[in-house]
Amino acid sequence: MAKYISILGSTGSIGRQTLEVCKLNNIRVLGISANSNIDLLEKQTREFRPLCVAIADERLEDELKHRLRDFEVDVFSGQKGLEKIAMIPEVELVVSAIVGIAGLMPTYMAIKSGHDVALANKETLVVAGNIIMDEAKKRNIKIIPIDSEHSAIFQCLYGNDKKDVEKIILTASGGPFRGKKYEYLKTVTPDMALKHPNWIMGRKITIDSATLMNKGFEVIEAKWLFDMDVDKIEVVIHPESIIHSMVEYVDGVVMAELGTPDMRVPISHAIMYPDRVKNNFAKLDLLKYNKLTFEKPDMDTFECLKMAYQVSIEGGLMPTVLNAANEFSVDLFLRNKINFTDIQDIIKRSLYEYKNISRVTVEDILHADKEVKDRLRKKYIN
Ligand code: NAD
Ligand code: MG
Repeated sequence: MAKYISILGSTGSIGRQTLEVCKLNNIRVLGISANSNIDLLEKQTREFRPLCVAIADERLEDELKHRLRDFEVDVFSGQKGLEKIAMIPEVELVVSAIVGIAGLMPTYMAIKSGHDVALANKETLVVAGNIIMDEAKKRNIKIIPIDSEHSAIFQCLYGNDKKDVEKIILTASGGPFRGKKYEYLKTVTPDMALKHPNWIMGRKITIDSATLMNKGFEVIEAKWLFDMDVDKIEVVIHPESIIHSMVEYVDGVVMAELGTPDMRVPISHAIMYPDRVKNNFAKLDLLKYNKLTFEKPDMDTFECLKMAYQVSIEGGLMPTVLNAANEFSVDLFLRNKINFTDIQDIIKRSLYEYKNISRVTVEDILHADKEVKDRLRKKYIN
């Protein structure tokens, strides 16, 4: 179990819950970072007394230094600042909880500097799964999932031989628009899409859950984390979100992990791994749920899930294009500039227009991400 950690994205939904878990378990937090939420970052610095703090928005560096002038802490900013937090030598585990491709480089640098990673930032594996997993393998680095489904699969694999796995069954709540069709989805507002039935999360992942892109990303995340072909990763809608995912073995045995929908549980598991530590979070009361139900996902309506399966087979830069077009269009939707269904239509068009290459480097990925977003900016903003 790690005693010294740093948190990339400490002001977000996962970041804040990670700090809560650290406080409950006397884990020392040596580094924290945020994009631009300077008020919360200052408050967290005063409470947790890290050695280093970084703000991604460079324009806020002087302001943060000024606010913390009475305090002994190193203040950094920009991309280099995030990497400092990822590479603090005394740290044993880096919690990767930035949202989007912005998490890629700091997560990569954490691995390169020899730190184990507790991974929430799934976009890193979506765009660069092979590069990240190869680097981790080369350096004998553990990547422990925080995503609840992957934490479940990780645990359902304990004590078993991977060669005996028949398939992975990823559960999905189905989001707020389960059962709805395209004509209805055209009319939904950001407020409606932000009302997730079971989980309270950051805004971007909540929209990804409503489009089922989140589940598509999780299929790709599972492919890399557990080294499985995507044709052995099945998505099942399970609206109650009690079974967090399952592993089926060749003899027909299915292992499942169940619990309340509370991200502090998989966060604790990732940080305490391989130990289990008692907590006072609400426990699962099975009698309250007298029925657990399952459905097939509607990939003809929720095409993001279908596209994620497709790009994971195509490989190369296509997962990056999927992610970039998604980040861009989700942001437009949240700002009321496009309809909900435009998200999947913009992604489809971006994939169609992109000429793929097969062997990719981190630089190719960052370049393709920028290229796709620049192209969309020209079309939808200027
Ligand atoms: P969030 O929006 O609540 O927080 C994001 C964090 O990243 C914040 O600290 C923010 O300051 C930082 N950030 C944003 N843009 C940045 C940038 N350009 N540079 C540097 N830092 C930046 O998001 P969240 O819900 O906590 O999700 C974080 C990650 O965890 C996502 O990849 C998400 O898919 C994954 N995840 C979240 C949950 C959940 O319950 N929230 C569950 C599973 C996986
Ligand atoms: Mg999840």
